[in-house]
Amino acid sequence: RSKALGGHQVHVYNDAMRQSNLEQLHLEQELRLALEGQQLAVHFQPKLDLATQRISGVEALARWHHPDMGWIPPSAFIPLAERTGLIHQLGSWVLEAACAQAAHWFEQGYSIQVAVNIAAQQIESGQLVHEVDQLLNQHGLPAQLLQLELTESTLMEDVEASVSEMQRLRQRGVSLAIDDFGTGYSSLSYLQRFPLDLLKIDRSFLQTQQTSHQQGTLTQAIIALGHGLGLKVVAEGVEYADQLEALRGLGCDYVQGYLISRPLAAEQLQPLLVEKADRRVTQDNPL
Ligand code: C2E
Ligand code: MG
Ligand code: MG
Ligand code: MG
Repeated sequence: RSKALGGHQVHVYNDAMRQSNLEQLHLEQELRLALEGQQLAVHFQPKLDLATQRISGVEALARWHHPDMGWIPPSAFIPLAERTGLIHQLGSWVLEAACAQAAHWFEQGYSIQVAVNIAAQQIESGQLVHEVDQLLNQHGLPAQLLQLELTESTLMEDVEASVSEMQRLRQRGVSLAIDDFGTGYSSLSYLQRFPLDLLKIDRSFLQTQQTSHQQGTLTQAIIALGHGLGLKVVAEGVEYADQLEALRGLGCDYVQGYLISRPLAAEQLQPLLVEKADRRVTQDNPL
């Protein structure tokens, strides 16, 4: 199965490869090489603030372009990296690239929060806080411009450890989001224990938004839950204008999805940022 994305990106990777151990081993070796070479990249997907109609942040997403196999989707290499321990190296690389880019936008006068996906093993390592401290320092990046996304399932793996690492991150001013909310079967009573800023509604809740009344009811309930806990709420996977309008009507704070923009390389995103991104208050630029 080959899938064209945006006309120019071609996925040569196919599902059959996932099942073969030999191919897994091969892919693991290739991922090691990719981490040492120049094959990995980070793309950024904007988040639109529905109150201001401005882009207030972006999500950093890992991308792997293999010289022979083409684009390999994160759904293939992230789980592989998690199984093989390569996620530590990959996660650190993405975090560094994201902080460097965030600092660059900050220097250009933008106020763009960059969100980075964090795997369970990165939280469990106990090194994350130290790593974040170093990166913020090194790049002169205000902590509020960094957000970390943790999935519901990641947080549930070790609730105590997650809570304590999150508290340390939050003390520094780093923003925290719960990702793919609604898919991880976490007990709702846990939700209030995690020090969070943002709840990301999984895109599976939106898929049939236009046709299904029940789906809309669930989305509405999740937004109310998030707001009840004092969190901002973002809907991911927004592809159609009527979804955006429905979410606006439900009081959703932010939307992210192909309707706004696909994830893009920083340079490709620049025109959209020039037009729509929040700018920070400076002496030159009082508004
Ligand atoms: P996620 O964090 O939930 O990221 C959102 C995914 O939805 C991204 O897929 C994004 O490209 C896709 N998406 C965004 N808008 C739309 C839309 O309107 N329609 C559809 N159909 N899809 C949309 P992507 O980039 O393939 O990443 C998949 C998952 O891989 C991510 O889900 C995240 O869990 C993981 N991932 C990606 N990069 C990293 C990383 O650096 N570290 C870790 N630990 N995980 C990562
Ligand atoms: Mg995410
Ligand atoms: Mg998500
Ligand atoms: Mg998701």
